[in-house]
Amino acid sequence: MNYQESRVYTTTAGVEAVYACLMRHGIDSVAVADAADVTSIMDEKDKLGWDYIEPSLVEDTGGEAVLSFYTPDEPSGWSVLSEIKLDLLKLKGDEQYGIFGANADFGRLYVETQLLDDSWKDKWKERFRPFAMTGHFTVCPPWEVCQGDGETIILDPGMAFGLGSHETTVMCAEALETIELKGCKVLDVGTGSGILAIAAAKLGAERVLALEVDIDAFKVAESNIAVNSVSDRIELVRGDILYWRHGPGGGQLFDVVVGNLAGPLIHAALPVLKACVASGGRLILSGLLDIEETALKAALDAQGAVDISVRSRGEWIAVCADFS
Ligand code: SAM
Repeated sequence: MNYQESRVYTTTAGVEAVYACLMRHGIDSVAVADAADVTSIMDEKDKLGWDYIEPSLVEDTGGEAVLSFYTPDEPSGWSVLSEIKLDLLKLKGDEQYGIFGANADFGRLYVETQLLDDSWKDKWKERFRPFAMTGHFTVCPPWEVCQGDGETIILDPGMAFGLGSHETTVMCAEALETIELKGCKVLDVGTGSGILAIAAAKLGAERVLALEVDIDAFKVAESNIAVNSVSDRIELVRGDILYWRHGPGGGQLFDVVVGNLAGPLIHAALPVLKACVASGGRLILSGLLDIEETALKAALDAQGAVDISVRSRGEWIAVCADFS
């Protein structure tokens, strides 16, 4: 299948809002090139003591922030793309109306689209190097020599979400790290690349069920789980959280349920997610913006949460809710 590459031109201030818009339409592999990042790296030059950046690592964005993403070159992809364009027009209207503050400037919010051949698929690999996802885990692609502090997760995210660099994934992993998982059963809803399921297994969970609706992500998770030698403790299931609980194997209870999903899906699936939590268990949710915190807390209260805590990174939040 051929794909289209689309580039959204915005400002640094507009990156999170555009990112959230893309996520709402199911686009979860997004590359961000932001001129401000390069400037801040250059500002650190003396402190960090280097004097050269490989030019191929720095994209000239002409001073703008650019978010690139891919959609299939077929009717389903065209329809997603036109919905995104409509949403970006609405975002521009909201920005001009002052919804994000009188001084908010999201720039052009212009979308440029081009048809690609197959070679783009592997281009991101050139920039994927081992990195510390949390204080505990280093994420390393299989084609690199894995070294670094802490425990390693070997990961080839392919076209699935879950590289481990996004704030929401990091916060979910950090929330898992705060729990004594030895002997626990964990459900990872929307496993993507499998990264959180693998993290839970490596943190000692006795059994992890990783649920994923998307067939491509499912295949990616399958291979990452195998490469990390945790297949004996992770059961990967293809299914939609909204329906899975009512089908075969759906009636199980878990000590920890983690779901890094988009806000609207979290609200729609909350009763099901809660129903999967064993007595005394914990629900960890992310994929939400800070403006969604109050509504989510109210919804968790209504589900009977006895304790709710929130962590945040940038505009993203992750919420932990305990049930009696
Ligand atoms: N867990 C990974 C992480 O934290 O990086 C991936 C999170 S990604 C934001 C959300 C994942 O949920 C995607 O892989 C998507 O295909 C999957 N997903 C979306 N809707 C779903 C549903 N209704 N049931 C199960 N999985 C779903």
